[in-house]
Amino acid sequence: MARLMAVLVAALALVGLGVGTASAAAPPAWPLVDSGDTGPEVASAQYLLRAHGAQITADSIFGPQTQAATKAFQTAQGLDADGIVGPLTWAKLVVQVDSGARGDAVTAAQHQLVRHGYALTADGVFGTGTASAVTDFKTKHGLAATSLVDATTWQWLIGGTPTVNGWSLPLPRTALPRSEYDDPHHDYPAIDLPVGTGTRALAVTAGTASLVNDSSCGKGVVVTAAGVRYIYCHLSQQVVAAGAAVTAGQLVGYTGSTGNSTGPHLHFGIKIGSTSHCPQRLLLAIYDGQNPPAPSSLPTSGCSY
Ligand SMILES: [Zn+2]
Repeated sequence: MARLMAVLVAALALVGLGVGTASAAAPPAWPLVDSGDTGPEVASAQYLLRAHGAQITADSIFGPQTQAATKAFQTAQGLDADGIVGPLTWAKLVVQVDSGARGDAVTAAQHQLVRHGYALTADGVFGTGTASAVTDFKTKHGLAATSLVDATTWQWLIGGTPTVNGWSLPLPRTALPRSEYDDPHHDYPAIDLPVGTGTRALAVTAGTASLVNDSSCGKGVVVTAAGVRYIYCHLSQQVVAAGAAVTAGQLVGYTGSTGNSTGPHLHFGIKIGSTSHCPQRLLLAIYDGQNPPAPSSLPTSGCSY
């Protein structure tokens, strides 16, 4: 429930942001990062624990060492040592950084900037590329247009959903180049995105999740929004419950090769009723940071062979 609340608060904060405006909105909720979790939130927690002296490896997997380091940090800070990185722990963990800084806290910030679509190397050096990414990110979220990563910036970086105008790519932006989002499909309107097993599959827009388990799609997730079904197939793992509300950019599963598949990839389709629409133009617009065309206006032929 706490996780769901965090998502809802984040969604409300994003709604409050509006399109194309830069008015300061309430920052999104901090995520809860717990034993067994994986991904960039875990990596950032690990780098921040390292910045506070923890001798752990930042491998993006919340294992026993990370949990022990979290408990030790919480004890040292006078917090309840539950081993879960939640709002109180994040607030103590984040370290203010700015141009010229070096070290693990910078790496943590860079991992989040990459998650939000910035092409950076997470090298722990706060150079001009990182500075311009931070300034752009803060501007987009109605914060002062500086390179200072303060507590509020951290909260937007770590809690925020990487979306543009309420849309997200179905994969992390760094997973594939733009040129992969315009390829035709092999038999009917859809797209096959060539990524290895275990890549994060993300909701392209806010909607309601349902699950597919059959010999064709394999383990699949469908996000339904305004009568449009966004279909994800061949997952190795589904990580949303049937009926769950999801927000754009939310993790819905991990890619794989289940069902009728010859190798790991993400099959992504858009259906309205029984009609398949070509997702290519929608995905390219999202990639380019533009409002995508209405799904109903997407072609129903010409993107397959
Ligand atoms: Zn396919």
